[in-house]
Amino acid sequence: MEEEGALVLYSGGQDSATCLAWALERYGHVETIGFDYGQRHRIELDCRTDLVSRLRAQFPAWSEKLGEDHVVRLDALGQISQTALTSDMEFRLAEDGLPNSFVPGRNLIFLAFAAALAYRRGLKRIVTGVCETDYSGYPDCRDDTIKAMQVALSLGLDRRLVLETPLMWRDKAQTWALAQELGGEALVELIRLRSHSCYVGDRTLEHVWGHGCGACPACELRSAGWEKWRSRPHLTTEP
Ligand code: ZN
Repeated sequence: MEEEGALVLYSGGQDSATCLAWALERYGHVETIGFDYGQRHRIELDCRTDLVSRLRAQFPAWSEKLGEDHVVRLDALGQISQTALTSDMEFRLAEDGLPNSFVPGRNLIFLAFAAALAYRRGLKRIVTGVCETDYSGYPDCRDDTIKAMQVALSLGLDRRLVLETPLMWRDKAQTWALAQELGGEALVELIRLRSHSCYVGDRTLEHVWGHGCGACPACELRSAGWEKWRSRPHLTTEP
């Protein structure tokens, strides 16, 4: 088991791109995993490859530590969910306050697959960008959920796995501040222009905070975080 090895759940969004940089700054060997489950914003999958190749070019020291990227197909997830992310339904909030894009337990499924892969690759740590601070109502992003999952996976695999969540107590503004701290303005620009958050997959409109429709909850969160960070440039990155 490689003590210094980490597997990052990397989707191509702002949060996971920041987590990738965070892991590359800390660990000697980093691999990435992404999931293709027929999400409507498939553009996210194209962005993730593009962002990594640019990251490699701009940060040679990180590039040396960055190993394989694993894309796992999870078609069954789309089959089960029939939600806004995988069909042509309009994005909206459901009666329980969760976005109708919510795929129940999605992060738990992702973590289970990531753990199986980490086991096979001999990687001890799994890094995920889940966040309880502005978690959009996803209960599987909560700190207690992740802690319980770490125990379940370590027991179930009979191997100590560590789930790391650098963004758990950071809001979106602090996530930008963290990117700045890790890779300066170059990393901020890379994430701003190349990462994708928009739920409806829009990349035709460019805003100061990046690309997106500007109206969906993901765009609103990203835009508000950017504005808050820009108005408070010395915001601490401490959660
Ligand atoms: Zn959007």
